[in-house]
Amino acid sequence: MTILIKTKKEIKDKLLELPKPIGLVPTMGALHAGHISLIQAAQTECKTVIVYIFVNPLQFGPDEDYEKYPRDLESDLKICEQNKVDIAFAPSVNEIYPEMDFNEETISPPVELTNILCGKTRVNHFNGVATVINKFFNIIQPDYAYFGKKDFQQLCVIKWLVHNYKHKTNIKACPTIREKSGLACSSRNKYLKKDELEIASNLYKSLKMAKANLISGMFSVQECVLESLVFLSQFLKIKVEYFEARQKDTLVKIKDNYELRDFHFFVAAKVGNVRLIDNIEIQNV
Ligand code: AMP
Repeated sequence: MTILIKTKKEIKDKLLELPKPIGLVPTMGALHAGHISLIQAAQTECKTVIVYIFVNPLQFGPDEDYEKYPRDLESDLKICEQNKVDIAFAPSVNEIYPEMDFNEETISPPVELTNILCGKTRVNHFNGVATVINKFFNIIQPDYAYFGKKDFQQLCVIKWLVHNYKHKTNIKACPTIREKSGLACSSRNKYLKKDELEIASNLYKSLKMAKANLISGMFSVQECVLESLVFLSQFLKIKVEYFEARQKDTLVKIKDNYELRDFHFFVAAKVGNVRLIDNIEIQNV
């Protein structure tokens, strides 16, 4: 049975009696198959699995979807229950940011990680992510925390956070879970209209195309990027924000003459009004 906890005090008390290792799955709720895969990964390694559900105001820009982000605690709790989550921790905004003095407490990871890719348009987004994860890590001090590779830039920022803020948490990167169409599962897929759902699956097709083109040996990295951009340009409802190749750990942009191993192609695009991201791993080409 999943226990719902809403306050820091309650969870801190509870943590004293929970068996270790403790695995944390950070989420913003609207749980889907991607989140469930993280829960399952946690269950293979941890005696206690805690899912936190918190829509973090600090990581949304003023023109973004903080207000209308899908929230359904009841349905999330059902999913936790069905998946044998031990604790669902769903604090209020006031519980996590009692002072509401956002500026003072914001963590700023290095700009090399945060002013590229999604950080170019989502200014301060990763500062908000690092800040909230730091808070939850301080409260729960999990042995393991599970993140999806779908949000790969976020994963890089969190690895930086753990290293620089000396958290003892072991970060586990989990594979991207997809719909049958190839579209990466995302809470924001809920916003897509029926035709847009189908169109959105072309984002993953464009990533697979880049990978296949590269493996064919007939295209440079930059040509692969261009080919995929041309492919995506045929869909009027897709407005690409970026399509780039970057190194796996540092997120440094790949030059054509770079030794081609361990990098990712990254894409972000709006499908209708919905902003989606995805990426694909390239190893040892
Ligand atoms: P979110 O609720 O969108 O903040 O995501 C919470 C966690 O779930 C993050 O670590 C995400 O990377 C991960 N996640 C989201 N979508 C997927 C997916 N399709 N496959 C695997 N992990 C995912």
